[in-house]
Amino acid sequence: MIIRHNLDQVQERIYDAAHRASRLPEEIKMVAVTKNVSSEIIKEAIDWGVSRLGENRVQEFLQKYPELPTGTEWHLIGHLQTNKVKKVIGKVALIHSLDRWSLAEEISRAAMKNDIVARVLVQVNVAGEETKHGLSLAEAEDFIASTVRLPGLDVRGLMTIAPWTKNPEEVRPVFRQLKELARRIESSRIGATMEYLSMGMSGDFEVAIEEGANLVRIGTAIFGEK
Ligand SMILES: *Cc1c(COP(=O)(O)O)cnc(C)c1O
Repeated sequence: MIIRHNLDQVQERIYDAAHRASRLPEEIKMVAVTKNVSSEIIKEAIDWGVSRLGENRVQEFLQKYPELPTGTEWHLIGHLQTNKVKKVIGKVALIHSLDRWSLAEEISRAAMKNDIVARVLVQVNVAGEETKHGLSLAEAEDFIASTVRLPGLDVRGLMTIAPWTKNPEEVRPVFRQLKELARRIESSRIGATMEYLSMGMSGDFEVAIEEGANLVRIGTAIFGEK
């Protein structure tokens, strides 16, 4: 029951944030982040209407994948090693963490081999934190311009992880800069569709929504601290 309660609360907070920004709440999709959460508990969340799950580790994803209903939409949100690409291609709806050229090439190769188009987001390390993966704001545009030429790979938008903070207002500029980058890319001649802005986690998703997020990745606020 706690899961249901938490889901209701998160949904309400998403609605309120959308309204504050004069946006339609339906525009905002929630990915329930299930790292360290058992398949048993995840099933409960699915029963209460969750349809998108996010995992950050390939190993854990592969373990849960066969245990959960086939209609589940999986998102890979964590750092992806090149040698693990083969294992996830065709199984995940969206990879949020494309952060280097060798990975783009490997995803392209694996997608072509499987006769699919892999949908990906480019991860941007907006704040330039050393502990985080992702391209810098300065690199992202040229990188995306190159990736559009790779077959089997479809860049659908951008993702960022904001620095940890107690006061989410402090990271508002991070979200704003990612949105600005998406606008720049859309209005350039690159030809990449910036459909998704994946930004906002349990501690900062309301601010992210106010700044234009349409994919929020929420773990703790649904499943509790682990
Ligand atoms: C764990 C994780 C989240 C969710 O974080 P919470 O603070 O628990 O909501 C979101 N994005 C990524 C990339 C994560 O690894």
